[in-house]
Amino acid sequence: MDPALAHLGEFGLIGLIRERMRHRSPGTVLGIGDDAAVLRPEADAEVIATTDMLLEGVHFQRHWGCPRELGRKTLAVNLSDIAAMGGRPQHALLGLGVPPSGVPLAEIEALLAGLEEEAAAYGVALVGGDTCASRSGLVLSVTLLGVVAAGRAILRSGAHPEETVWVTGRLGGSAAGLLALESGLRPDSPWPAGLPRPTWIGPAEEAALQAGLRAHLLPVPRLAIGQALVGCATAMIDVSDGIASDLGHLCTESRVGARIQAGRVPIHPAAAVVGRWLGRDPLDLALRGGEDYELLFTSRADPRPRLLAVAPELEVTALGAVVAEPLGARLETADGREHAMAGGFDHFSAAP
Ligand code: ADP
Ligand code: MG
Repeated sequence: MDPALAHLGEFGLIGLIRERMRHRSPGTVLGIGDDAAVLRPEADAEVIATTDMLLEGVHFQRHWGCPRELGRKTLAVNLSDIAAMGGRPQHALLGLGVPPSGVPLAEIEALLAGLEEEAAAYGVALVGGDTCASRSGLVLSVTLLGVVAAGRAILRSGAHPEETVWVTGRLGGSAAGLLALESGLRPDSPWPAGLPRPTWIGPAEEAALQAGLRAHLLPVPRLAIGQALVGCATAMIDVSDGIASDLGHLCTESRVGARIQAGRVPIHPAAAVVGRWLGRDPLDLALRGGEDYELLFTSRADPRPRLLAVAPELEVTALGAVVAEPLGARLETADGREHAMAGGFDHFSAAP
């Protein structure tokens, strides 16, 4: 244990968190400091609650990126779930497990600074949490509460036949970034000495790889887009495990099927570069990679006019259509053949 952290102790660390997390949000009657927070619900609104954990060694390695970005990502993955419901985030609780060795106080302070930055950017107040020593590895668990107008949350279960399946942004960037990190690349750093560099990787390819690293280390939650889709999207899910899996979840919950065209899948440039570099199929990275935190949704009307107002730069792609037969998520390739899309990442599936 870092002596500075040991000196601070559990209650000193809670005091530090209380002091550093300065952003306030309406509806907080009482934040950190008592046995529980007291929150005032908004009239005519429903509360949306979500939790996502980030575990060292499972979801991240501490040496991959900077702790500030890790703090941001800890909240961002939760914000993405609120975005996928069409909600507005308001209050967060932080479960923090600090391993007995190896995490200096300065690193925790940087992590809190990132968390505060992300919280302030999206209007979230940290109102409580729990702090423990962990047996091994850093544990970061955020519970996030948000609101949506009563009855207006966008569920996974609302898709109907003949609606169009849409996705925001590009897919496979985060998975490609993860493979690049595992190969030794680091954000904002030159190509590492000792890592063979293919001659075809020039500045453009390197920029694409860096964009992949950023997509993995610092995903951007699509909150404004999710909110703008209330009243337009019939069903929605955020792409955390890869659309092969996530579109399957949406189909199951909606009791429908979906047929998407392989040629329309918007592949992130980093997936194209990593595909050639490490011998992976870019389309496979885009479909099964996960952690892109884009929004996958269905709608009858074209959503682009209303999204233009909140995110003029954002790509929004029509992938295919919802079909009545509950045959799951199917992929149609250029040769006209149809394939069942096997799942994305599953924490409990056996390693291949
Ligand atoms: P209790 O033993 O009643 O659970 P704690 O000592 O764990 O109380 O927590 C005291 C206060 O500090 C509570 O308001 C709690 O929500 C807050 N708190 C503890 N850990 C964290 C944390 N990691 N982030 C934010 N607030 C925290
Ligand atoms: Mg506690």
